[in-house]
Amino acid sequence: MKKFLLATILTTAALAAAGCGGLTNTDWATQLPDAGSSGAGDELQAALDRYAGALVSKDRDGFLSVIDAENTDFTSRQDVLFSNLQAVPFQEYSITITSRSDAGGGTVLVKVNIAYTLAGSFSELPDPERAAYHMVRKEDGWKLSGDASEQALGKKRATGLEDFGPVIVTEGEHVIVLSHPAQAGISAEARDLSDSAYPRLTDTLPGLELPKVPIRIFGGMGQIEQSYPGGWQEWTGGASRPLGSTAGQGGEIIIDAGTFRETASYGTGYNGRMLAHELTHVALFPEQGSRTPPFLVEGLADYVAGIEPVVLLREKMRSGETFSPTLSDLYQPSGFSTLLSTEAATLAYEEADLAVEYLVITYGNEAVLDLLREFRKRSGEEIDQGQLVDEVFREVLGVGWSDFEDAWRDYVLRG
Ligand SMILES: [Zn+2]
Repeated sequence: MKKFLLATILTTAALAAAGCGGLTNTDWATQLPDAGSSGAGDELQAALDRYAGALVSKDRDGFLSVIDAENTDFTSRQDVLFSNLQAVPFQEYSITITSRSDAGGGTVLVKVNIAYTLAGSFSELPDPERAAYHMVRKEDGWKLSGDASEQALGKKRATGLEDFGPVIVTEGEHVIVLSHPAQAGISAEARDLSDSAYPRLTDTLPGLELPKVPIRIFGGMGQIEQSYPGGWQEWTGGASRPLGSTAGQGGEIIIDAGTFRETASYGTGYNGRMLAHELTHVALFPEQGSRTPPFLVEGLADYVAGIEPVVLLREKMRSGETFSPTLSDLYQPSGFSTLLSTEAATLAYEEADLAVEYLVITYGNEAVLDLLREFRKRSGEEIDQGQLVDEVFREVLGVGWSDFEDAWRDYVLRG
């Protein structure tokens, strides 16, 4: 039952790796002949601004007016893309040229950063994705004439939901669900489950209010792997990832429709807990630092979702059996990404769950947030993780790590 909790959060490091890399193009430094004058650069950017603006305002004619009509193949693919994105309520869509070079024959290659926000959702543009276009000058201005991402960046541009068909939007009070028509039922269910989970999140973590959190529902694992290549170690139905490092950039939840259907059939509130767990992750992203003990984060996400009965850990403790991981293993930043068996994962979550439950009952839920904030503040310190944990616990709770661990063990045994 705890299997979904293995859902791996894409780390910011993984995001950075996904957003860059590939081949370097040594010709790239070539500047346009007229790069020194402001003209061409501004005009290229202006054409991309019209393209992006038309996506926001749903102006198909305006959108197609900046596509090179002579490239019929590219034009028809862009036309499909526009249709697929028609229902998506973009607040802002940004395409910014980062560099450009003469590609010969009157065409120019532009490398761009692409990012957008959704109306009612996080207000700051997320970390951008990189792409590249061919552009060509026509009598009435510059036109996009082809995708040059593979050529210029050494890899295809990141795939999105819109590449797999029309995107439908199912808005709730607290989430905005993007999916395909075949997943309309699941989208409504994910919306309702998220909306009903939200009050428990804000009750438990006062002050951590979220705008509408985007939920992307993919039709299958193949689509997810194409959209987030190498991003997931294991798939268990739902996961969350930060969209940048600031609270304003926020995060999103990603769901595999196939697994969601399967877990819905358990009929035990599994999907509701999964969504509450992932929503909590999105709320906690800005509170986390590189040294934050992951048991605090996973435990809090479970606490908001509703902790299930702890059986295995209690058995092991009562029988005096040694077990792995220990709670100390789980304050290491990599503590949850190195769990190798289902038993280890079950134990890890049971330990985290009861650690947070004990913290909340004994010190109040604010104390758990205070711990997270103190760890974030001290994330740059070059001291041993054990020493850092001990010092932060002393500072925030007034007890050192080993006293805390003893008290936690007593709490587990009492239960
Ligand atoms: Zn989690």
